[in-house]
Amino acid sequence: MTELLTITAKMPVLFLGHGSPMNAIEENEFVDGFRNMGKEIPKPIAVLCVSAHWETKGTNVTAMKSPKTIHDFGGFPKELHAVQYPAPGSPELAKETRNIIKKTNVTLNESWGLDHGCWSVVKHLYPNADVPVIQLSLDYSRDSQYHYDLARELAKLRHKGILIIGSGNMVHNLRMIAWDRLNETGFGYDWAIEANEKMKQYILGGDYKSLINYKFQGSAFNLAIPTPEHFLPLLYALALKEENDKVTLFNDKAVAGSLTMTSVKIGS
Ligand code: ZN
Repeated sequence: MTELLTITAKMPVLFLGHGSPMNAIEENEFVDGFRNMGKEIPKPIAVLCVSAHWETKGTNVTAMKSPKTIHDFGGFPKELHAVQYPAPGSPELAKETRNIIKKTNVTLNESWGLDHGCWSVVKHLYPNADVPVIQLSLDYSRDSQYHYDLARELAKLRHKGILIIGSGNMVHNLRMIAWDRLNETGFGYDWAIEANEKMKQYILGGDYKSLINYKFQGSAFNLAIPTPEHFLPLLYALALKEENDKVTLFNDKAVAGSLTMTSVKIGS
């Protein structure tokens, strides 16, 4: 019975602020937020994740049966490099995703796997690695409107028990990180707070146009989004909002001055 319900229920869509890769192995309020979300929403048949950390020319989708855990970072403890997240892939879902995207010819990818933008958060939602996970790449040659429009084509998957997750950070400026205040949760520079508050206003007010046009929102936005890859996954999530979906925020805090962990749940 439960299984039948999860198959037919419309799944919510998530944007998860992933922050430091260390969130994969640390205990903190953000990790608790991810865990609670995993328990709160119906268990999906599979996850499709759009991670900030997979940029390609053209759009790719992972199509292997057993995606490897990619440790795409440097300078972190051995413990983090040792983490494996052995969730299966889903060649079937990869093919279906390729078929429903009409904007471009999606490439079935056999070489990527799961990067830390994906596994460092999905592991808290599904710690038993018992939900298949595929990733959809970000085409770095395209603008924000293109990404938003492409994401809209994924809408059907929500009705087939697929949990779509955008994983990035709304405010993400690594060059301006306050290295001396790394562990001080809640510390954000004025411009980071300003940009985050404005983004939240746009998200909750349904003004996605202003977010798509993020390049024209002034200096706080320019500092918050020095490169688009951590911001674009948010647009993928918002593009999938349907008329009656409730939008809620969680993990809404700044860290290390120039990052925000603010995460979004669309639907229930
Ligand atoms: Zn990242």
